[in-house]
Amino acid sequence: MTVEIICVGTELLLGNIVNTNAAYLAGKCAGLGLSCYHQQVVGDNAQRLEDAIRLAISRSDIVILSGGLGPTEDDLTKETAARCMGRELVMDEECRKKIDSYFKKRGMEATENNWKQAMVPEGGIVLDNPNGTAPGLLLKGEQAHLILLPGPPLELVPMFEESVAPYLNALGLGVIYSQTVKLCGISESEAETLIRDLVDGQANPTVATYAKTGEVHIRVTARAENEKEAKKLLKPLVKELKTRFGSYIYSTEEDVTLERAVVDLLIANKLSVTCAESCTGGRLSARLINVPGVSEAYKCGYVTYSNKAKRKILGVKKSTLQKYGAVSKQTAEEMAKGAARQAKADVAVAVTGLAGPDGGTQEKPVGLVYISCCVKGKVTVKEYHFSGSREKIRESSTSAALALARRCMLEYFSKVTFGKE
Ligand code: ATP
Ligand code: MG
Repeated sequence: MTVEIICVGTELLLGNIVNTNAAYLAGKCAGLGLSCYHQQVVGDNAQRLEDAIRLAISRSDIVILSGGLGPTEDDLTKETAARCMGRELVMDEECRKKIDSYFKKRGMEATENNWKQAMVPEGGIVLDNPNGTAPGLLLKGEQAHLILLPGPPLELVPMFEESVAPYLNALGLGVIYSQTVKLCGISESEAETLIRDLVDGQANPTVATYAKTGEVHIRVTARAENEKEAKKLLKPLVKELKTRFGSYIYSTEEDVTLERAVVDLLIANKLSVTCAESCTGGRLSARLINVPGVSEAYKCGYVTYSNKAKRKILGVKKSTLQKYGAVSKQTAEEMAKGAARQAKADVAVAVTGLAGPDGGTQEKPVGLVYISCCVKGKVTVKEYHFSGSREKIRESSTSAALALARRCMLEYFSKVTFGKE
């Protein structure tokens, strides 16, 4: 079944408010197994609203409208929807009583146009609005189901949860269920190349890749009658991805981040860790320390930005800095070794690079970053070329450092080998 969302309000067209209802409704409908091919935004104008509703009815099975249900002149949704469905408006006694008690409770007088809200298209099912006066409406027509919801999110959301979701569920739509396979240390284009055949031939389940900073997520989605069936459809696909990507996969769990995967690996191997950072300025430590339970592994970190700090705190040789520069393979290596020595840590990760925007040369352009990881004395150094703003380069460097730390630990302890990087 298909759903179409129409959000009504001139404020939306002018950009005065953000269309959070559309995002909310779209997400919920996808979760319920509905396919959404169209959304519309239309101002408070009867003719244009009528055109929008007629178009939606002609091409979608379920049409959800948000906004324009209030008591004022510019609230036209109910009248227009009734006209499109060929229904008269009649007074709903239940509704009239509710409006009456709503105003009595607040010691206020209902105005003439408040009663307008008790007028309901014939055959419509009224949806209770405990958070406001405008009730919602369900209208089952021959061509489509029309669902009218109030604009304020504080009214729309509870109404959707309490009344609309059960109504849609009862239509027997099934579910859409997704799982994410998370990779690091591989580029999006490489990952895509490895699964092109799966992406091309997809129907149900579907496969899509998403590039995150320093990571690639592959999202697999199945449509089925229930969650159990959907998981069954996904299982062989996830297995296939595991075969193809092997150790590049750091998790298939929704709530596991790259830093969490690194911390888990440290703790599982009873390793302590330290970080020596130049251009990332503490970001690597911050991401590790974001993980609850990291205290079992994290010792301390060094932000050594100046050459002097690199020398004094980490023991990087003056001659190394003079000969190769602060952004070099040699400096990165000495930073990691020095940090491991200073902190007496099993694992040390060091980052040095040019985050820009100034300071780049032909030989050492902005975005050039060296990351090294020392695991029990064994040092690996890699060169990276990142692009984007200073912020982006620093974040990319941090993610790459986490990916390298994970890789070095796996290679050291599990004798896992990675393909080309
Ligand atoms: P009311 O009884 O408050 O008039 P209504 O159903 O007539 O409700 P609108 O008049 O269209 O709704 O909108 C009322 C308020 O709800 C807007 O001022 C805005 O704050 C919020 N709102 C409306 N539509 C949206 C939307 N699509 N996304 C987020 N907020 C919205
Ligand atoms: Mg209104």
